[in-house]
Parts: sequence; structure tokens; C-alpha cells
Amino acid sequence: MTPNQCPLCAQQVPGGNRVVGEVLSCDGCSAELEVVGINPLRLEEAPEVEEDWGE
Ligand SMILES: [Zn+2]
Repeated sequence: MTPNQCPLCAQQVPGGNRVVGEVLSCDGCSAELEVVGINPLRLEEAPEVEEDWGE
């Protein structure tokens, strides 16, 4: 399994320098993917709305 892969459709996502919190768009399914880890690179589907975790 390659690290730069959409968790939803397995489409390859362009690699390169990523930072945690960066949001990418998947070319395959147009999903918003958030970088949640960089070592190793981990991508998760970004929430449609900002979650409010409270204070
Ligand atoms: Zn996708």
C-alpha cells in the first residue's frame, strides 16, 4: 500500500512536501483529504464542516 493514496477510492494522490493539516483534493473522487500524519504520510477524509471540539 502506497502512502500517497486516497483512503476512499485508492486513487494516487500527488506526493511531495506535505504538512499536517494540509487539505488536498483527490483527483479520483474529488474528496477533500486532510494530511493527518507525515511520518509516515497518512491521509483521512476531511470533515465537511469544521468540528467544534469546544474549549
Ligand atoms: Zn479519492
